[in-house]
Amino acid sequence: MKNFFYLNIGAWVVVVLVSLGWNIKNIQRQRIDIAFQSARSFFDQIVITREWNAGHQSVYVPVTATSQPNPYLKDADRDLRISRDLTLTKINPAYMTREISEISVRYKGIQFHITSLKPLNPGNTPTDREKEALISFQEGKKETGYFIKGRPDASFFYMSPLVTTESCLPCHAQQGYKVGDIRGGISVTLPSLIELSIGPVVIAHFLIGILGIAGIVFFGKKLDGAYEIVKQHAAIDALTGIPNRRTFIQKILEEFKRSKRKNEPLSVLFCDIDNFKGYNDTYGHAAGDDCLNRIAQIIQTSLERPGDFCARYGGEEFVVILPDTPSAGALSIAERILQNTRDLQISHRHSSASPFITLSIGTATLDRNSLCLSDEELIKQADTALYEAKKAGKNRAVQYTTDLSL
Ligand code: GH3
Ligand code: MG
Ligand code: MG
Repeated sequence: MKNFFYLNIGAWVVVVLVSLGWNIKNIQRQRIDIAFQSARSFFDQIVITREWNAGHQSVYVPVTATSQPNPYLKDADRDLRISRDLTLTKINPAYMTREISEISVRYKGIQFHITSLKPLNPGNTPTDREKEALISFQEGKKETGYFIKGRPDASFFYMSPLVTTESCLPCHAQQGYKVGDIRGGISVTLPSLIELSIGPVVIAHFLIGILGIAGIVFFGKKLDGAYEIVKQHAAIDALTGIPNRRTFIQKILEEFKRSKRKNEPLSVLFCDIDNFKGYNDTYGHAAGDDCLNRIAQIIQTSLERPGDFCARYGGEEFVVILPDTPSAGALSIAERILQNTRDLQISHRHSSASPFITLSIGTATLDRNSLCLSDEELIKQADTALYEAKKAGKNRAVQYTTDLSL
């Protein structure tokens, strides 16, 4: 029962842990999916903006303190002086990407980097991470993305290739690029925007786990109690409340083995109420039950040693086991039971032995002189002695001797 209990708790803990692991895995998958989607959106947005710029064959903006001419743009029309106060400078897609990246880093911490294995602007030289991605694009990979390990803010790095289009050729044809060639890539580094916390899931599983264990303990205890009651009912005689025949069979086997092992004497008493059928017939079955109950109690209270044991063997028969008791001791306890029964003075008008309820007892002892080899033989000997007591006139105890077996 205890093992079953621990097994249940173990199984429950495993179920909760598996569920927790599965949920955490799902959260992590969800987190990377969201990161990919966000980074792709930023990437697409910047590509569209670049397309717009390239579609206009670059755009002109006023030269200001923050918007200085692009030193890497080799173009005779790069700067146009419009008036004394206004000079316009050409912003190509690459330069525009750098400027947008600077704004987005300041604004949201999102970083774009346009890069190439053959950059025109040394500022667009790839980092190791980007170089690795660019090489993988040349091998056919469409995109790459992962959380950067070792960074406390769990930044997400994403990169996708930049494919040469018609609008790129005016600037990049000189490098030998054709439409469809992978010219480089744009990396997007997201700060830890995607905070999917596993805390609530862990707490929920912990609570579910504890609740489950409490349930198992609670119902386990109830079940244990019910099991104990059933076990007791199976071992106890319902009418008299003393052990039943089933319990006696187990007990005599144990005691027989123990006595043989320890070389101690073991006695068995077989008690039978005299003329009990007549008692039932005279006083009724209910009175008979009451009498059986009283006799069971008197036999039990006649036993003084803690190891002594009595049971209802069946009908109006009772059996007593006396461990470490020689035949003389067994006979004296039998006499005590007989006397205590007589002293109850339960009237019995139609008994052949006495005007009161009496018992007949047969005793048998396992000792050095005895010939019995098994517990069953010992019981049989006590039964034979009981038969002899009945034959001799009832209301007495007879000890089994080898003469009786003849
Ligand atoms: P003897 O002196 O030879 O033992 O005769 P007896 O009448 O006691 O023996 P017998 O075996 O003829 O009858 C036993 C009776 O015990 C029969 C039955 O009515 C009665 N009896 C057995 N079990 C119960 C029980 O649970 N309740 C009651 N009231 N009577 C029982
Ligand atoms: Mg009988
Ligand atoms: Mg009887």
